[in-house]
Amino acid sequence: MKLKKITACLDMYGCPNRCKHCWLAITPNGNLTIEDLKFTYQAFRPFTDDLEIVSNYREEDYAPNYKELWNLTSELSDSKTTHFENISYWRAVRDSDYIPWLYTLGVRAAQLTVFGDENTTDFFVGRKGAFKEIIKTIEQLVQNRISPRIQMFIYKNNIDQLPFIEKLLVDLNLEERCKSFDKQFSFFLHQGSCSGENAQFYEDWITNEEIKQIPEKLLKYTFKHFNTINKKEIWGSPEKEVSEKLALDDSTLNIVNDTPVFYVDNKFNVYPNFETPSEIWLLGNLKTMKMEEILKNYLQNTSLGQKTLAEVSTAELVREFGNYESNRLFGECDYKNLLLHKYCRRKLSEKQ
Ligand code: SF4
Repeated sequence: MKLKKITACLDMYGCPNRCKHCWLAITPNGNLTIEDLKFTYQAFRPFTDDLEIVSNYREEDYAPNYKELWNLTSELSDSKTTHFENISYWRAVRDSDYIPWLYTLGVRAAQLTVFGDENTTDFFVGRKGAFKEIIKTIEQLVQNRISPRIQMFIYKNNIDQLPFIEKLLVDLNLEERCKSFDKQFSFFLHQGSCSGENAQFYEDWITNEEIKQIPEKLLKYTFKHFNTINKKEIWGSPEKEVSEKLALDDSTLNIVNDTPVFYVDNKFNVYPNFETPSEIWLLGNLKTMKMEEILKNYLQNTSLGQKTLAEVSTAELVREFGNYESNRLFGECDYKNLLLHKYCRRKLSEKQ
């Protein structure tokens, strides 16, 4: 059994943050070793001629030996994806080598997430000091000719922070400063998908009333980022309209492909990179099962999540869990996944 390409991401160290919107869901941090990384690499090795091994799937470069891990995973991997534009502001303010190192890897834009002013951002990140670290990191990025890309998550309960963010961007003068090194500053705001930790905000989910409160400048930035002025393409449609439309959708979904990305948590449980790694998507454990069995579970849609996607139509999910009263805004894909999770969680609770 061989697949065209496999990417295996091991959650070696976790993340310094406890974000309330984290789609991966909060789990305890690990402290895995180089040997654990090599073990994971060896487990997947016989099953593809193009294996990429990655030492994290939460915070990039949170590991104390982040440079060593980058070099080792580059050496071990048959092909290596360039460094993501997600970076660690935790690392940036503690290690003056970090941002220049990112530049040497070709990183020219870096994404940072805010939720509002200092108290609001610290609350949503789940860690005191986060906002100040983000501001310091923005300065370091600009000094190193890397343009910051700022995303803001919006809910009903932080929508009053928009004027603060608008003023902050003006005060930081990021548009002009990025232009000075021929890069473009960008900003966008959205609600994210209603999965993982973010599902807790369903009651506070934005509607078109909140969209009307977005200041013109932030709206323009967001349109530019998404390359559209169609608000529905960015924030989706009211839940009642999405439910009505998807109630006619008889399709199912098979996520299996021959270039899968697998997430391996710090207990060596394996999940497909599709939705929040959890019991719903569990394929098996590298320490207790043979890889053949784990891959078979993936290829045959054995986990509850994959099986449900492959066998239960969207229309059926809407019949069970659609909400024809709600004005909350959802994109169709995110909404399907929200219903899928409701369905799977009910199945799990029935088993208990
Ligand atoms: S959203 Fe990112 S930074 Fe926040 S807890 Fe999740 S992995 Fe960490």
